[in-house]
Amino acid sequence: MLQHFEEGALISVMTAQPLDRALDYKAPEGGCFLGAFVEVPLGPRKVLGVVWGKGEGGYELSKVRSVIRVLDAAPMQPKMRDFLIRAGEYTLTPLSAMVRLATRSPGLGDPPSMRTIYRLGTGEPDRWTDARRKVVAALEEYGGLAFTLKELAEMAGVSTSVVKGLVKQGVVAEEASPRDLPYPHLDPGQSPFDLTDEQKEAASVLTKGLETKTYGTTLLKGVTGSGKTEVYLEAVGACLAAGRQALVLLPEIALTAEFLTRVEARFGAKPAEWHSGVTMTERRRAWKMVAEGHAQLVVGARSALFLPFQDLGLIVVDEEHDTSYKQEDGVLYNARDMAVLRASITGAQVVLASATPSLESWANADAGKYGRVTLTSRFGEAVMPTLKAIDMRAESLPSNRWISDTLARAVTQRIEAGEQSLLFLNRRGYAPITICRACGHQIGCDQCDARMVEHRFLKRLVCHQCGETKPMPQTCPSCEAEDRLAPVGPGVERLGEEVTALFPDARVSVLSSDLFGSARALKAAIEEIADGGADIIIGTQIVAKGHNFPHLTLVGVIDADLGLQGSDLRAAERTFQLMRQVSGRAGRADKPGTALLQSYQPAHPVIQAILSGDEEEFWRAEAAERRMAGVPPYGRMAGIVLSSPDVQEVFDIGKALAARDAPLRKIGAQVFGPAAAPIARIRGRHRVRLLVKADKGAPLQQALAQWVGQIRMPSNLRLAIDIDPQSFY
Ligand code: ADP
Ligand code: ZN
Repeated sequence: MLQHFEEGALISVMTAQPLDRALDYKAPEGGCFLGAFVEVPLGPRKVLGVVWGKGEGGYELSKVRSVIRVLDAAPMQPKMRDFLIRAGEYTLTPLSAMVRLATRSPGLGDPPSMRTIYRLGTGEPDRWTDARRKVVAALEEYGGLAFTLKELAEMAGVSTSVVKGLVKQGVVAEEASPRDLPYPHLDPGQSPFDLTDEQKEAASVLTKGLETKTYGTTLLKGVTGSGKTEVYLEAVGACLAAGRQALVLLPEIALTAEFLTRVEARFGAKPAEWHSGVTMTERRRAWKMVAEGHAQLVVGARSALFLPFQDLGLIVVDEEHDTSYKQEDGVLYNARDMAVLRASITGAQVVLASATPSLESWANADAGKYGRVTLTSRFGEAVMPTLKAIDMRAESLPSNRWISDTLARAVTQRIEAGEQSLLFLNRRGYAPITICRACGHQIGCDQCDARMVEHRFLKRLVCHQCGETKPMPQTCPSCEAEDRLAPVGPGVERLGEEVTALFPDARVSVLSSDLFGSARALKAAIEEIADGGADIIIGTQIVAKGHNFPHLTLVGVIDADLGLQGSDLRAAERTFQLMRQVSGRAGRADKPGTALLQSYQPAHPVIQAILSGDEEEFWRAEAAERRMAGVPPYGRMAGIVLSSPDVQEVFDIGKALAARDAPLRKIGAQVFGPAAAPIARIRGRHRVRLLVKADKGAPLQQALAQWVGQIRMPSNLRLAIDIDPQSFY
């Protein structure tokens, strides 16, 4: 039972305001429970907060203001509170910011709201018309179900006044019902498939874990198409059967549609959805129903981790290696790691699914901290694609062409056989650089230290850092020469032009996140392609992630070397994952697939590892190197970014921090920098980076807090601490 505070009792309330501490209030009329969501006065404003505990006291009681009201929402559970506290400590985030993450429900503060619904009544109409018959037929078709006025009118294909007329005569009954309806019941049922022995074995390991009702994490590794999804859906079924809630995290909204269809086929109804593509009304419903235990399964993006589950039994992190699980602004957290934290607090199981796990998860499984199950073969006839490199040094490509003759021939063969080809290039837009042929000037963003990327489809130049756009100028902004600006290098749009020129009769489809106005449009495009609606698909990394294209038998990687440049410690790992992932798109059904990797350095160890298919060997080699260097996952890291409109100030503070490193040295940690960040200016703010490295077991967060606490930060300076950084821009 939650602790209850009587009316007038002194309580502390944690608001989502950036105050860094809880505030004292008096409990309202009727009292309130620990964890209750409340509205409290703060200065002249009313703000939302959570009852955090007993008040601190120590001042004149008559001055303490009262809670205005308790909101219509189930109180926050003590375990959720512990999760927010621990996650805040881990990411060095103030609790108020964690509370904000946990209260991001539209309309949380609104009064309970009702809506009017319509169902079949008992009356007889004075006379029948066609329109009236349609309404009754629509209601009869769906048995006892009720609908809103708009829904019913649309279903029947009549105007709302027809429905209203029937209400007057009692043929249709009108009633009030809560706006947020529970989600339909999901039936754990059975898998529609006969699982293979390997799949059964994997599923039973996961379901046994669930039976313990305690925490555990399992890495579910298997090549694309081996049935990972099918296997973890078995675990979801077992979790639902046990009466506990389940959460499936997906890295990409575009993937949810396909997944929802599968859930519906498996469990008989759609689950709750939580991501940026969901309407406010649906989100509000999802949040409430999750809190009341009336949503058994949630499918969502990383922020779904902060939903108020009542009894969470299972978290699946699909494509667990995906970088989009790391939130790169605001609260810097990695959803995969926070999933493990939340599960360890609530006694839930975590399944990390991937064909190409992160080195972090691989190392945890290797060390026995995580369980591990492996699916070694593709389901049914499908075999792994054949992988080959195309040595670009031996191909003579004219300038402004990127598709080698070898690759073009392979595409032609596929077109003749009625099969699909995918050309993969991880660059959005038309061309990454626009240069002036007269003076060599490259068009950059006014606010950032970054080049602007031409997007011909949008007819604009776009900064991929800040999103700023401008029209393509006629004259060079530097030397004013006319008509001398030229694109350099390829983006997917430009590759599209080359493909159309090479294969004039082929149906070409370019898939890039920026070419579709909405997740729905992207989904529609993907479905059309899956149905065979294109001969050649040109795509950025959105096509690498888990879509099923049954007619696809050839993958051509335009630039396999792209990710190997740069000093990112995960460059090799990322390239390996992306190349394996995208190659895995080829040959999923009954036809074998081929992946061709265009490379100027085919002897590079990473390219060789990709081709050999010996994944364990790659991970072992990569692990050995990281261990030697003492970097994650065998050491700890924190990235510090200071930013300010004032370039002098940002370097001064950076130097002052580096000089006062005693708290870090005490735990054996080292600080590197300050140095100008690779992107030295974003949105007009100059950026400086420091990097802190420590041993694996070192109490890094405490030391970091002490360290930055020594220095008073000027008000226009921003400091961001990124624990376990994934990006270093
Ligand atoms: P992964 O998640 O590893 O990519 P999926 O679970 O999506 O693999 O399975 C790939 C395809 O094979 C899907 O279309 C799935 O429905 C099908 N499949 C997997 N296992 C079986 C099975 N035992 N029987 C029939 N079809 C299966
Ligand atoms: Zn910019």
